[in-house]
Amino acid sequence: MSWEFETDEVFQAELDWIDAFVRTEVEPVDQLVSDPYDVGDLLRNELIRPLQRAVKQRGLWACHLSPRLGGRGYGQLKLALMNEILGRSSSGPIVFGCQAPDSGNAEILAHFGTEDLKHRYLEPLLDGAIVSCFSMTEPQGGTDPTQFRTRAELDGDHWVVNGEKWFSSNARYAAFLIVMVVTDPDAPPHRRLSALVVPADTPGVEIVRNVGAPGEPVGEGTHAYIRYHDVHVPADHMLGQPGEGFLVAQTRLGGGRIHHAMRTVARVRWAFDAMCQRALSRTTTRGERLADQQMVQEMIADSWIEIEQFRLLVLRTAWKIDRYEDYQLVRADISAVKAAMPKVYHDVAARALQLHGSIGVSNEMPFGDMVIDSFRMGLADGATEIHKVTLARQILGRYEPTEDLFPSYHVPRARHEARERLGEVLERAERTDAAERARP
Ligand SMILES: Cc1cc2nc3c(=O)[nH]c(=O)nc-3n(C[C@H](O)[C@H](O)[C@H](O)COP(=O)(O)OP(=O)(O)OC[C@H]3O[C@@H](n4cnc5c(N)ncnc54)[C@H](O)[C@@H]3O)c2cc1C
Repeated sequence: MSWEFETDEVFQAELDWIDAFVRTEVEPVDQLVSDPYDVGDLLRNELIRPLQRAVKQRGLWACHLSPRLGGRGYGQLKLALMNEILGRSSSGPIVFGCQAPDSGNAEILAHFGTEDLKHRYLEPLLDGAIVSCFSMTEPQGGTDPTQFRTRAELDGDHWVVNGEKWFSSNARYAAFLIVMVVTDPDAPPHRRLSALVVPADTPGVEIVRNVGAPGEPVGEGTHAYIRYHDVHVPADHMLGQPGEGFLVAQTRLGGGRIHHAMRTVARVRWAFDAMCQRALSRTTTRGERLADQQMVQEMIADSWIEIEQFRLLVLRTAWKIDRYEDYQLVRADISAVKAAMPKVYHDVAARALQLHGSIGVSNEMPFGDMVIDSFRMGLADGATEIHKVTLARQILGRYEPTEDLFPSYHVPRARHEARERLGEVLERAERTDAAERARP
């Protein structure tokens, strides 16, 4: 029997080191670097590269990956415990070599890329020298990939790509993009798409504009609206076979979704800690602490319960991924985590904002951005509704309908079956009872 809720001492020592390192070395960098993905920013490189070297020396670089890919084969459960710390900081995942979307893109390059592609893109990606982009969503609808229109047609030894993509994160900094293209429009919906590695400097790749977050200047964001005009890509830049795009995308999206959830645990814990400190520090007009008000106590209690429930679901899902080594077998769990994430994030961040009053709603606190970020988490890698549908379908697939008019658990039926099975005992008890009562 093994059913543990403890971290072994050796790994706990690593987590303690990570916690102290992030607090003292990485979190200050967040205050100075405008975008940790911008590998062309000199200040960013001066501050982040030495930290990356320190992490490599400690043996904690990209350590969820297998040794074949330069990691330590820690897997998802240990990564979850690390991400619960790293997610506090916007630079944390980059400093430790496990940031989205690069970690997922590295996984598919490793699985499906040629040796040449691995040499040109995977090695510098894993080394932290470049960043990448996953370009899938289209302007006419992201939730339903069967609507995608970006076409790639084979012309000699090149694919020629034409179409538009929307919200391709970090395209402006990326050395290459993994672009999902329609290669066979007449195939069944899930066999139409293929995945192509497109070097970012290929002629015809045009960033129409970089869409930003609320509050950012228009056009200065990091989510690119991209046009691909007659982009020529060598035929061997395809990941997997033509028509295997969905399979390739699932390889990265399964991991990507749970990684977002792991980092979200860090963020909601940060908001919760802030809420508790504020509740103990701030007095109300009646001179009592916020912490002494029952409605505030309810906020604290509800937040703690929701965070712990969510964290346990994330950890168990990570454990299952390591155990089964097959994302398909953990699909329901990953969808459950993905659907639960925006709600717990939103509710805890919104309570923290409310409890901080005017300073909470100001741009001197991160709570407003966290509330918006909860909506981002409900969209990136698939809308919540879609994940709820996936979860429900998977769960319902484990049940059988009854042929009877009344349900199998209908009380009269259950009672009848119990009598059938235990009738003798019942009759014996009734006889004994009658005999007892007949005694003078
Ligand atoms: C922060 C962020 C980063 C992103 N990064 C990337 C990236 O790097 N690369 C990339 O390719 N994409 C990226 N995306 C895009 C993301 O994958 C899409 O936003 C997502 O798939 C939803 O597509 P959509 O935005 O077109 O929404 P739509 O398809 O227009 O859906 C809008 C809403 O309609 C509802 N809805 C839609 N379909 C259904 C349904 N069947 N049942 C019930 N309700 C439904 C949902 O509420 C949904 O949120 C990113 C998105 C965000 C927010």
